[in-house]
Amino acid sequence: MKVLVVGSGGREHTLVWKLKQNSNVEEIFVASGNAGTDQLATNIDIKATNITGLIEFAKKEGVDLTFVGPEAPLVKGIVDNFKTAGLKIFGPTKKAAQLEGSKVFSKDLMKKYDIPTAKYESFTDPQEAIAYIKQEGAPIVVKAEGLAAGKGVVVAQTTKEAIKAVETIMVNEKFGTAGNRIVIEEFLTGEEATVLAFTDGDTIIPMVPSQDHKQAYDGDEGPNTGGMGAYAPAPVVTDELLEEVKEDILVPTIEALKEEGIQYKGVLYTGLMIEDNKAKVLEYNVRFGDPEAQVVLPLLETDLVEIAEAVIDERLGKVNINWSPKTAVCVIMASEGYPIDYNTGKEITGIALAEKIDNINVFQAGTTCKNNQLVTVGGRVLGVTAVGEDYQDTITKAYQGIDKIDFKGAHYRTDIGDKALGYE
Ligand code: ATP
Repeated sequence: MKVLVVGSGGREHTLVWKLKQNSNVEEIFVASGNAGTDQLATNIDIKATNITGLIEFAKKEGVDLTFVGPEAPLVKGIVDNFKTAGLKIFGPTKKAAQLEGSKVFSKDLMKKYDIPTAKYESFTDPQEAIAYIKQEGAPIVVKAEGLAAGKGVVVAQTTKEAIKAVETIMVNEKFGTAGNRIVIEEFLTGEEATVLAFTDGDTIIPMVPSQDHKQAYDGDEGPNTGGMGAYAPAPVVTDELLEEVKEDILVPTIEALKEEGIQYKGVLYTGLMIEDNKAKVLEYNVRFGDPEAQVVLPLLETDLVEIAEAVIDERLGKVNINWSPKTAVCVIMASEGYPIDYNTGKEITGIALAEKIDNINVFQAGTTCKNNQLVTVGGRVLGVTAVGEDYQDTITKAYQGIDKIDFKGAHYRTDIGDKALGYE
């Protein structure tokens, strides 16, 4: 069987690593991949959003199954286009991907179907948005409607800051048309967690809950990033709460879409805020999270191809999905200055040494090979993932891996997973 993975980050390296465990998978292509995927698969020089190019390639090579990592191709309609071309692909259609592609769509859906989320209003007129901010007061959250690579959200502590965000997004059009409409939302407090689920549009199977660390520095300080590390399972999501999340959020979401004439197939990501053992939806994504994939997939014992095919054929209810009872911790090593300004081209050493430690995998993201030397090429460079018996063990092991790896200016948080320790 030939598989194509679309994307080039740590999530995609993890997907390739997991897919390789299926003995029927003879060849994996990655568009466009990184130095890590290059070791396990064949990287191809086609951009993730070049849907026509990807279809041509998949047809020419006889690709049997395609996985899509990032949101942009899904929101652009890669699944619809592959299907029309007679190609098998795992993921939601363009209509279903609006759940991530439009925050107005997702907030309106939650309001209409009573799915717990922060109170909000949406605006196309900056003056009306500003009047609303003045009426509601701060703290308050301003969000560009469309995709902005995680940068279109401003959690404003003052009304002045919120008004500035409206101006940046709507008047200065910092995110282009993604900011034509904005959502202004009530500020929620609590602890964040991620619950991912596999669904074929009917059966919904939640994965082990996980927790990302979005801020750049220890203690959740500093600017928001793509994610500086993750761990799973996240103890803030107890078994009881996970059941509630399924009943009150996941099932109603899939059913609400169905009511709207949209079938959702693939991975559904819910970013949750949890307070007093109750969860509210902060955001939906329509694919695996990154770094969450780097801790969730290593705990998945069931074959991913089997799950994907069952989702595509709408028989997920017949599959038993099993999870390891262990814990996983992923610490991201990033370039100096990330997420703001950073240089690339720094030589990376020590990955092989880190991977000699039992149950450590180094998933690569912003890496490439230049003159036979592994060098940095992006903001988030590597994810060092350890799997172990308990949180403390696993955290210690992940940082032992980090200690072996070096590149100039490497930056990582030293407190990944610490929140889980408070629950032990
Ligand atoms: P990404 O795709 O990178 O996860 P996004 O652009 O889709 O991000 P959100 O997830 O909606 O944005 O928000 C980013 C972060 O902002 C959240 O993880 C959370 O920390 C914070 N945030 C968002 N909405 C709220 C809210 N209503 N109250 C408090 N914090 C919030």
